[in-house]
Amino acid sequence: MGEPESIRAVRQAEYSGRQGTAKTEHCARFTAAKDEAIRKTKQRLTLELRAAGEAVSCRRGCNHCCLHYITASVAEGLVIVDFLYRNEAELRRFVENYPRWQARAGTVCTGFDRLRSLAQATGTPVEAYRASVGIAQDEYAAMAVGCPFLTGPGDCAIYAVRPLACAIHCSVDPPEKCAPDSLQAPKCYNVVPDEMDIAALSGFWKPGWSAMSMTMPAMVYGLLTRGNAFIDESLG
Ligand code: SF4
Ligand code: SF4
Repeated sequence: MGEPESIRAVRQAEYSGRQGTAKTEHCARFTAAKDEAIRKTKQRLTLELRAAGEAVSCRRGCNHCCLHYITASVAEGLVIVDFLYRNEAELRRFVENYPRWQARAGTVCTGFDRLRSLAQATGTPVEAYRASVGIAQDEYAAMAVGCPFLTGPGDCAIYAVRPLACAIHCSVDPPEKCAPDSLQAPKCYNVVPDEMDIAALSGFWKPGWSAMSMTMPAMVYGLLTRGNAFIDESLG
């Protein structure tokens, strides 16, 4: 499948000339800050685990967790888009994989995003709809739909810029326990960057661009095909 006309049009209108260069530089700075925040936090976790006689099992190419539901912020989505523009083969692969993912997971994910944006618009606390989120996440995992960024051999095509949700998730159990059909839940930790690092990352973009999470593949496709219009519509 070729690159849809809508992707070409957005790319030309919003990522060319000085505006495009500024966006790319911004994405590079954001990624460097994010990597540093994760590196520091992982280092701390590794030392704590070592003291407790445990070790992180996660490795590049290990991908049972890529069958689970993933969200990302608009700020992270823009970084992924920038990465895809610089990696044409991965952009093509995503555009090819996306319709299959959308056909299977789209309905669950659209409902999920609506619930989240309605809650945000009305100031509903997360606790009030946590049960619905849990049901939707279980439903998604049961479909065993691989992330559209998984390559044939099971690697992550956007590993260098994968969302925080993927990068901070660590298991200390055998990887098989992370599979959606595993009968035992793995022992996991989230490598959450400290408050100052989170504040620094949030301040990189316009207000709101780091605050709201959306279904990651659908958001990236929306940014690719509709650009700023997608952001305006999603964030109100
Ligand atoms: S969370 Fe589980 S499946 Fe994912 S990389 Fe870590 S060990 Fe592997
Ligand atoms: S972005 Fe990469 S690491 Fe995250 S779910 Fe998709 S394939 Fe897995």
